[in-house]
Amino acid sequence: MSLFDSFPRESQIFTCKEYLRHSYTPDKLLHREEQIQQLAKILAAPLRGEAPSNVLIYGKTGTGKTAVARFLLRELELARTPLRVVGIYLNCENTNTQYRILAKLTTFLLEDLKQRIGPFEFQTTGLPERVPNTGWPTDQLLDTMVATLEYEGKVVIVALDEIDRVAGGGEDILYKLSRLNSDLSRSRISLIGISNSANFLELLDPRVKSSLGEIQVVFPPYNATQLKDILEERARMSFREGALEEGVTALCAALAAQEHGDARRALDLLRTAGEVAEEKGCTRVEISHVREASHRLQRSAMEEVLQTLPLHQKLVLLGIVTLKQNGCRLSFGEIYRYYQRICERNPELSAVSPRTVKNYLDELDMLGIITTTVVSKGRGGRTTEVRDLTYPEMRELLSEEMSRFELPPVVESKLCRFLA
Ligand code: ADP
Ligand code: MG
Repeated sequence: MSLFDSFPRESQIFTCKEYLRHSYTPDKLLHREEQIQQLAKILAAPLRGEAPSNVLIYGKTGTGKTAVARFLLRELELARTPLRVVGIYLNCENTNTQYRILAKLTTFLLEDLKQRIGPFEFQTTGLPERVPNTGWPTDQLLDTMVATLEYEGKVVIVALDEIDRVAGGGEDILYKLSRLNSDLSRSRISLIGISNSANFLELLDPRVKSSLGEIQVVFPPYNATQLKDILEERARMSFREGALEEGVTALCAALAAQEHGDARRALDLLRTAGEVAEEKGCTRVEISHVREASHRLQRSAMEEVLQTLPLHQKLVLLGIVTLKQNGCRLSFGEIYRYYQRICERNPELSAVSPRTVKNYLDELDMLGIITTTVVSKGRGGRTTEVRDLTYPEMRELLSEEMSRFELPPVVESKLCRFLA
């Protein structure tokens, strides 16, 4: 008997968890008919023997941009067109420099050509087998790309996903690629730029904007009903029949809609809820498991954010959490004084300036960790006040991480002012 024989082989909950992963692209995309139609109209140009215009897609994370782009490229490659269509999808999160993007695209095109004409004829073209991962000048890369494209007429549609991740903003690469068409006579290249940030276009150089921003398609956040439909479709493929208690998908959808209509978030919640149910040895996913899943996901998201904060920003946050716990008002003065006292208590710390702390607060607000308001102080003065903490779990998390520091007792507000 092996140790592993004591573990259950079959899940009581899932039939196939893989379908709940972000990377899975379903065949049916719900509630994106309008965007698909809009894009299909543009991308249909090769059916008439023309190259499509460049497009820019933007919307927040989890609004289906990647799924729709992949779906359209797949459909287009399957369609019968006068000129062959080659769709290339590239995510710039990992391939985030101009060189690497150009090298990947060129290598892809070289391989495609070699497959089409066979290794024997390929040898006669004088084209390289592949492009090295570093070292070539950009012009050499572009020339090779043009030569590869010209060998055989085709329409290449390049989807550059998360284009805002490219070092330097990605506009240079977009410009270079869109300019390639002036050197091409047999083939055409069109671009689909995909960005999570709505102001990507505003930041673009005007020359790039005019060639790339020709057409923009916006992906709005999903509402709770739409997310519920998306989840139910996925749940059918990944959960055992009857494994979801009534209301489970609706709650996952509602929670995700509250955040920003993110389908990823909704899928994460559903998957994690299933895992919670499994851990507890239940045969059904219950509402309470969704709550627990939401708690876990929030906690791990918070942990991730906390790791990126500088020490003194965390100390300020620790101060806020402690003051709040003691029912103190969270005015800037109060927060700064308490932070100073933490630094006095712990000789290895020396306090940063009020200005820096003010910036810390603004940043924490931007990260969604706290909410602040500006209140007027009379005589035209204004000051920042912390309204609330977004995550109640923050206190526990921070005190675990910051346990090496000694915290001074919280002094009543008035007394504090009196002592100061
Ligand atoms: P984005 O690229 O906008 O961040 P994705 O396309 O990666 O979003 O979508 C996140 C997850 O949600 C993926 O697993 C995707 O399959 C799923 N999804 C998004 N929109 C839909 C939809 N309309 N119908 C079905 N699944 C969807
Ligand atoms: Mg995406």
